[in-house]
Amino acid sequence: MDVAGLAVCTRVAELRQHVAQARGRGLTIGLVPTMGALHAGHVSLVERSHAECGFSVATIFVNPTQFGPKEDFTRYPRTLGADCSLLKPAGCDLVFAPEVSEVYPRGASAAGLSPLSSFVDVTGVTEMLEGESRPGHFRGVATVVLKLFNMAQPDVAYFGRKDFQQATMIRRMVADLDVPVDVRLCPIVRDADGLALSSRNAYLSPEERRQALVLSQSLREAAAKVAAGERDAANLLGVMREVIAREPGVKVDYVALADPDTLQPVSRLDRPAVALLAARVGTTRLIDNATLEPTKP
Ligand code: AMP
Repeated sequence: MDVAGLAVCTRVAELRQHVAQARGRGLTIGLVPTMGALHAGHVSLVERSHAECGFSVATIFVNPTQFGPKEDFTRYPRTLGADCSLLKPAGCDLVFAPEVSEVYPRGASAAGLSPLSSFVDVTGVTEMLEGESRPGHFRGVATVVLKLFNMAQPDVAYFGRKDFQQATMIRRMVADLDVPVDVRLCPIVRDADGLALSSRNAYLSPEERRQALVLSQSLREAAAKVAAGERDAANLLGVMREVIAREPGVKVDYVALADPDTLQPVSRLDRPAVALLAARVGTTRLIDNATLEPTKP
């Protein structure tokens, strides 16, 4: 199949044929896993893959098993035509957009992983933050990412820092299980006013979008405090909560300051730490984060 001038395949066998052909030509394979509804953040990952690899594959799969029963699996935007129009100029060589039945031949719903007997549980970095708010989410993500790695067998895979905990988990999984894939992380792409790009931003009304700006603003103000010498985590978290509270319509799920490798909470900023947050704007749940780096006085 061809969409917007880009080769799209839906079957694993077809994907493997394309990848084997590229490998036969001596090319390095780059993989960019996505759920579609693509924006400039996703495009930046594909551009990086294109710059570093000879053959770049983007996957588009809204994975049911990483959604909770009350989450937005059914209404998650599906925009294959528009996605391919963005992917082609970014240097994507192939799109893998399987049906749910191709990935889960025994069927799957948005409430768990019963269709599989095997799954990946990455402990230690998934229980807190997103894991606490979204039970089962990371098990669904780790399992589908390992499946996509096994389907495409890439040399390199690209993930965004936007989903910081997810990226941390995937790096941990790859290290623990000796998965022969080089995982590379890419910076968060933001709109000019600071809002981190997300497929879920499409759910926001213009008023909600304006309110959501307090999220990135809270991270910037925390970074400014760090630059001014603040090192106390409780004070920094207080600043973030205060900024977010300027918009009463924005409800904090969590704000946290954590070690970037272990995601354990830090109490003082003696080393770089990551500030992470999740909040609801109306019914839309958004996440954002930033690395805070104390510089020597
Ligand atoms: P998703 O389609 O939301 O599952 O995201 C697919 C990949 O794109 C993940 O590795 C995300 O971290 C990454 N991504 C999403 N939004 C951004 C962004 N604003 N900047 C950089 N990467 C992003």
